[in-house]
Amino acid sequence: MTADTLAERYRRVKEALPPAVVLVAVSKKRSVEEIQALYDLGHRDFGENYPQELREKQPLLPKDIRWHFIGHLQTNKVKYIAPFVHLVHGVDSIGLLDELDKRARANGRAIDVLVQVHIAKEETKHGFSEAEVRPLLAEDLSARWPDLRFRGLMGMATNTEDSAIVQTEFADLADLYRSIASQAAPGRERFNVLSMGMSGDLEQALSAGTTMVRVGTAIFGAR
Ligand SMILES: *Cc1c(COP(=O)(O)O)cnc(C)c1O
Repeated sequence: MTADTLAERYRRVKEALPPAVVLVAVSKKRSVEEIQALYDLGHRDFGENYPQELREKQPLLPKDIRWHFIGHLQTNKVKYIAPFVHLVHGVDSIGLLDELDKRARANGRAIDVLVQVHIAKEETKHGFSEAEVRPLLAEDLSARWPDLRFRGLMGMATNTEDSAIVQTEFADLADLYRSIASQAAPGRERFNVLSMGMSGDLEQALSAGTTMVRVGTAIFGAR
């Protein structure tokens, strides 16, 4: 019998992913020690949901960790993560883009962002509609938000046992992503990230063509 250790769970998740798919290990509510243990196995991309929690953990952990912010971000919390965040996944309002751009400039750096698209049936989930995203990303983004780099799209499927629903939502998001990526625009020269898929819907995300998955419980165990 193999013990179900962190190393074992991590290896299983890695084996399920094609090499080109980026794995973000979702470490919300995990201790600094748990994160350090995964870091010691060679992992560098970690995802957090809460700005204050991330702000507290970041100085205690190695400086070469790439911190992804994957949760809903309030504009008044942007300042906590702007100095170091690697990629902000859930950008869901114009006000948040404005604030991220301002804080990027204040910190003398560019910030990479993904625009969140609302694909689920649930009202509770955040994001722009497809009808809003298309014109937004056809704009001259570099003129309006000079210190942001628009890297791609992010979405969360409906939380359901019905895998056909999840499949359809991911396929629609992947179509939208490819359609936007096929048309160049200033400010999104490197539009090559599609963040979709978590522990419960990893397979569907992979078959729909995800490029980045956000996995928590399948690596760290139940929260
Ligand atoms: C918590 C969370 C995840 C990871 O969920 P798991 O089910 O633990 O894999 C992924 N994405 C977002 C936005 C989350 O909030």
